Amino acid sequence: MKLLTLFGLVILLSSSVVNPSCDSPKKIANPTYLTKNVIVLVIDGPRMSETFGDSTGQYIPHLSKDMAPEGVLFTNFRNNGKTNTNSGHAAITTGVYQNIKNDGTELPKYPSMFQYYLKEKQLPKEKAWIVASKGKLNILANARKKGWNNSFMPSDYCGPNGNGNEYSADERTWDVVMTKLETDRPSLMLINLLEVDTRGHSNDWTNYLGAIQRTDEYAFQLWEFIQNNDYYKDNTTLIITNDHGRHIDGHKDGFKEHGDGCDGCRNIYMLALGPDFKKDLVVTEEFEQIDLSLTIAKLLHFDMPTSNGRVIGPLFE
Ligand SMILES: [Zn+2]
Ligand SMILES: [Zn+2]
Repeated sequence: MKLLTLFGLVILLSSSVVNPSCDSPKKIANPTYLTKNVIVLVIDGPRMSETFGDSTGQYIPHLSKDMAPEGVLFTNFRNNGKTNTNSGHAAITTGVYQNIKNDGTELPKYPSMFQYYLKEKQLPKEKAWIVASKGKLNILANARKKGWNNSFMPSDYCGPNGNGNEYSADERTWDVVMTKLETDRPSLMLINLLEVDTRGHSNDWTNYLGAIQRTDEYAFQLWEFIQNNDYYKDNTTLIITNDHGRHIDGHKDGFKEHGDGCDGCRNIYMLALGPDFKKDLVVTEEFEQIDLSLTIAKLLHFDMPTSNGRVIGPLFE
C-alpha cells in the first residue's frame, strides 16, 4: 500500500514536469528530442519505379541497403499538389499545397519552416540554409504573406553563382553544401540536387539512371558525414525525399516529363533517419509532402500555424 502511494506520487511529479503546453491547437505537446539539427535532401524528380519501387534497389544501393535499415522508409509518400519543382519544394517547406509558377518568379504565399524557425528561436540567418542546384528555388527563402515578406529569411545559395539564376551541376552544389556544414553549421538545411530531373527531361534513359546512382552516392556521403562529424553526430535527423516523380510508362511522354496527377508523378519516397526515429521500418500508410515541415517543427520545438500537414506519427519511438 505504502509502495503504491509512493508510485502514485512519482507519477504525479513526473506528469507535472512534462505538462505539455496547449495554448493553440497547432501547438504540439513536445517531449524532449535528441534531434538538434535537421537536413532535408530533395532529389529532384526520380520515379519510384527506378528507386524504392524496384525491389532489387539496383540504382540506389546505398539508400536501399546501407541507409533504409537505419531509418524509416515511406513507400506511399505523395505529392498531392502540383507535381512541379517549385510547387513540390514549397509544399515541403511550407506545409501548404500552392500552385506556384515554376520559373522562379512567384514566391510561396505562406511562410516556410525556415522563417518560423528563425523567428521563434531568434536565430541568425546562417543557422538555416537552402542550397539548390536550381537557381529558381531561391523562392523557398521568402513568402508573400504580410509580416513575412523579406523577413526572417534563411541563407540561400541557389544556382551556379548562388544568386538565384540558372542551374548548377550537382557537384558544385555539393561543394557549397559541405562548406556550409563545416563553417556555418546550420541547424536546418534543405538541399536540392537536379541531375535526375534534367536527364529525364533530356529523354536520356542511361544518364537518368546514372544520375539516380550519383544522387545515391551523395545521400550516403551526407549520412557518413553526419555520423563522423563531432558537431552533427547523434543529434541530426536526415530526411531524403523528392519534389515529384515522373509519368508512368505508357502515359504521355513517360519518364521524360512530369506535372500531372498520374501515380508516377504523385508517388515519391521519403526516408527519414535520426536519433528520435525508429529503425529498419517500412511504412506503407500514406503520408505526404505537407506533413514534413510540421514534423520537423515538432522535432525542433517550434510552431508552424499555417501548415495544413500532420505530424508523421509512425516515425517516432
Ligand atoms: Zn523537380
Ligand atoms: Zn504524370
